[in-house]
Amino acid sequence: MCVDLANIFIGDYSPFIMKIRNEKFPDPKELEKELGDFLAKKFGGSVKLATPIVVPQTEASDTVEKPIDHTVDINFDLKPEELIAYLDQYIIKQQQAKAILATKICTHFNRIRHRQASPDSMSDMVGSIKNNILMLGPTGVGKTYMIRLIAHKIGVPFVKGDATKFSETGYVGGDVEDLVRDLVREADGDLDRAQYGIIYIDEIDKIASAHNLIGADVSRTGVQRALLKPMEETDVDLKVPHDPISMLQEIERFRKTGSRDKSSINTKNILFIMSGAFSGLDAIIKKRLTEQPIGFGAHLGRHREASEMLSLVKSEDLIGYGFESEFVGRLPVRAVFEQLSEGDLYDILSNPNNPIILGKKVDFASYGIGVTFSDDGLRLLAEHAFAESTGARGLVSAVERALLSFETRLPSTKVKRFAVTREVIESPQVWLAKLESEPDDPEMKAIFERVRIEERQKIERYVNENRTHLSDKYGLPLTPLRVTLIADYYTVHTTDINGVFERFTHFCEQVKSIEMQFLKKHGINIVFEEEAIDFIITRWLEGATNLDAVYKQLSDNLEYGFKLVREKTGRNRFFLTRQALDAPDQFISQLLKEAQVPNNAPLPPADTNRKV
Ligand code: ADP
Repeated sequence: MCVDLANIFIGDYSPFIMKIRNEKFPDPKELEKELGDFLAKKFGGSVKLATPIVVPQTEASDTVEKPIDHTVDINFDLKPEELIAYLDQYIIKQQQAKAILATKICTHFNRIRHRQASPDSMSDMVGSIKNNILMLGPTGVGKTYMIRLIAHKIGVPFVKGDATKFSETGYVGGDVEDLVRDLVREADGDLDRAQYGIIYIDEIDKIASAHNLIGADVSRTGVQRALLKPMEETDVDLKVPHDPISMLQEIERFRKTGSRDKSSINTKNILFIMSGAFSGLDAIIKKRLTEQPIGFGAHLGRHREASEMLSLVKSEDLIGYGFESEFVGRLPVRAVFEQLSEGDLYDILSNPNNPIILGKKVDFASYGIGVTFSDDGLRLLAEHAFAESTGARGLVSAVERALLSFETRLPSTKVKRFAVTREVIESPQVWLAKLESEPDDPEMKAIFERVRIEERQKIERYVNENRTHLSDKYGLPLTPLRVTLIADYYTVHTTDINGVFERFTHFCEQVKSIEMQFLKKHGINIVFEEEAIDFIITRWLEGATNLDAVYKQLSDNLEYGFKLVREKTGRNRFFLTRQALDAPDQFISQLLKEAQVPNNAPLPPADTNRKV
C-alpha cells in the first residue's frame, strides 16, 4: 500500500538521493474490515478481531520518511593482499578464487569509501558498475565459508539464500527483498550497516532456463528478471508488503507512539554474490573452444578438469547455459573454485583454525574429557570424508561417525582423556571396551601423551611457518620460548590458534602494565625484556604467581637497588632480564658493580621469597 509521490534529486550529480514517500494510512474502519476479511478467508469465520483497532485520530506529523544517511562512514581500509593473508589462515587451496574475491570485494568497499570522501569524484558522474560476483564450483569447497569470513573481516552483515526457494509463481521477487530485510535483521536493525551488506544466493544454476522446457522456462527467467533491479539499485520496503502480521505490528506501534516506522533500504551498495556447481557448463565451454579457428581449441585434446574448463567461462557460455544476457551482465566478476583432494581435506582438519576438530574437542571438554587427534587418525578421517564426494562437508559427518559411540558412552564413565588414532577409528568397540574397563590404563595414557606431543609439535611448526604474519598481526615478538608456550597453551585449552594469540597478547599487555604502575609509584622506568615477560607468563600459567605478587616482589627486591644506582649515576631506566626476576640479588649486585656503588651500601630489606 505504498505510493511514491515524489522522487526528489538534490543536485545533478549528488550521490545523496533523498526520497520522499507519502503513504496513505488506511482509515481504521477500512483496516478493521481488511483484516477481518483476511481472517475470515484464512480461518473460515472461526477467528474474529476481538477489539476494534484504535488508531490516533490526529494526522501524524512524521509521514515523511527519514532518508537513510548515505554519508555514514564505513570503517574500511583493507587492501586486497591483507584480505588474502587473512583468508589463507582459514581456507585451504582456492588461491585464484581468494585473489579474485579479495580484490573485487576490497575494491567495492574502497570505492564506496572513496565516493563518500569525495562525492564529486568521477565515479559518481560516470556511474559505477557494481562488482557483483558469480562463483562456480562444486559443493563443500569453501564458497560460503570464504564469503562468510570476508563479511566478518570487513564487518558487514551477510545473509545467504537459495535460488531454488525463490518463488516461481505469485509474488516473484519477494524472496530477494526478504533477503534484503534479513540483512537489516543481521545488522540488528542498523540500516547504515545493512546498506553495505553482502547477499549470497546459492544454487543460482537452478534458475537457468532449459531451452527445451517451455513451462519451467518462464518462471526461471522470471526469477532472473526479478533479481535484476535489486542487484543494481532499488528501494526495498522494510515492512513486508501484504503481510497482515507486520500490518498489525505497525498499527500497534502507531497506536502507542503516534508515529510510523516507514523506512526503506536502497540496494545500491549491497554486494550480490551468486554461486552454483554449474554441471554441464564445462561441456558448453569446451564446445565453444573446439569450434574456434585452429589454434584456439587445439590444446583441448587431452582431458581437462571441469574446474580448469570453468575458469575459461565467458558470458556467452552462461547465456548458452540458460541465463538472460542482462542477468549475466550484472555478474561481471567470476571466480572458479576447484575440487578438493583427499590431501586437501587432511590439511583442512590439520589447520589449527578449523572449527571441526576444535568443535569436537569442545564437545568432549564439556563432559570434562580431553581428546587429542593423531596424525594418522586425521588422515583416515580425511579418507572417509573424501569417499563421500561432498568436499569438506564430508569431514563433519566423518568425524561424527567416528566418535559418536565415544560421545555416547564416555560421559558416564571415569575416562578423562583419550586419543583418536587410526586404530581407534577403525575398531571403536575394541577401544571403547578397553577404555571402559581400565580408565587409567597406562598404555592408553602413554598414547594420549604421545599424541599430545605430536599435536604440540604441529602447532609449533604452524606458528613458525606463519611467524611473520602472526607476529605482525598481534604485535607480538615470537621468541622460541614463546612459540613453545603458545603451542603448550593450545594443546591444553580448547581454543583456536587466533584465540591463543589473543590471550597471549592480553597476557603481555598485562605484564607490561606493571611497567607503568612501577613508574607511577616509584618514579623509576623499568622495561621488561621479552624473556622476562615469558618467564612471568610461564609462572602465571603454572599458577605459581600473579600480577600483584610480581609487582610486590619487584618493589621489594629491586626498587632500593635501582634508587641507589640512580643516585650514583642519574640513570633511571632499567631493562629487566629473566635474571632480574629469577635471581634479583645477583641482578642488583651486578648493577651496583657497574655503577661502582660501594659494596657496604645498605641492602634492601630481607625477603624470604625473593623470586618472582
Ligand atoms: P560450499 O562450497 O558448498 O559453499 P562451504 O563453504 O559451506 O561449502 O563448506 C563447508 C565447510 O567445509 C566450511 O564451513 C568449512 O569448515 C569447510 N571447508 C570447505 N572448503 C574449505 C576450504 N577450502 N578450506 C577450509 N575449509 C573448508
